Amino acid sequence: LQDMEWNTRYQPALTKDGHRIEVVANIGAPAEAEQAVNAGGEGVGLLRTEFLFLNRTAPPSEEEQFAAYTQMTQALNGLPLIIRTLDIGGDKAVPYLNLPKEDNPFLGVRGVRLCFEQPELFETQLRAILRAAATGYVRIMFPMIATLEDIRRAKDRVAAVRADLNAPPVEIGMMVEVPSAVFLAAEFAQEVDFFSVGTNDLTQYLLAIDRGHPVLAKQADALHPAVLRAIQQTVQAAQAHDKWVGVCGGMAGDPLGAILLAGLGVHELSMTIPNIPAVKAKLRSQSLKRLQKLAQKALKCRTAAEVRQL
Ligand code: PEP
Ligand code: MG
Repeated sequence: LQDMEWNTRYQPALTKDGHRIEVVANIGAPAEAEQAVNAGGEGVGLLRTEFLFLNRTAPPSEEEQFAAYTQMTQALNGLPLIIRTLDIGGDKAVPYLNLPKEDNPFLGVRGVRLCFEQPELFETQLRAILRAAATGYVRIMFPMIATLEDIRRAKDRVAAVRADLNAPPVEIGMMVEVPSAVFLAAEFAQEVDFFSVGTNDLTQYLLAIDRGHPVLAKQADALHPAVLRAIQQTVQAAQAHDKWVGVCGGMAGDPLGAILLAGLGVHELSMTIPNIPAVKAKLRSQSLKRLQKLAQKALKCRTAAEVRQL
């Protein structure tokens, strides 16, 4: 079995009936880009850039960020790197940002909202990303998009920085992790090149369960039918506008979650590096046709327990 894994490690994950699902990595440090490739990852579906900003006393400079992103484009050697702009909120300790204390940090100044509050922080990061885009295959993704104004404002900032740098266009995507983005997916699909569903936050916000809650977090199950139906709506809206959908929440790295997502029409699955071989193996053992039927059944379930039983 180990030999088999080794032989197919760098091959794409094709279902038995020949459909390709892209399997990529979630990373949060420059050295992980190379590890992702070595594990059979076909790129990076989510670079959490928070690592550059935490545990320090001042924000990283443009040069420092550029160096980190470039280290990753080099390791990826042409494979896609989705760089998510800063996603910190009031619940993380970033003293130099002087974030006011909030009663509900998950509903507060988080993700792009923070970037809009601190435009120089945003601009510096966008400059570093757009410069790094000249060194490899970079896509930009925005977290915590809740309204059309959010995505338009973020795109405007990219356009302004691009004009200033005279940089070529890059693909732009958004996280679908706030319920409003699901209901407006058809409108959002006309604004971006791709969606990536963040099942961790989407589950949290759909079920109103703090994802880190000491008592309740285990009930925040991404296999809940409400989450599955939200993903289905998102995929259908995207397909109607010829856009692709990935998933970068924890559900994508769980082999059971991964096959359901493939059945729902998700095109790219992004996960922590150790999950890559098992998810590829699971996808190869199934036909997409069967997974589509399975997904249709799961969508009709009434509870997460019913989905798991299925
Ligand atoms: C998510 O919300 O599912 C996600 C991938 O982003 P993060 O876990 O970084 O919030
Ligand atoms: Mg999230």
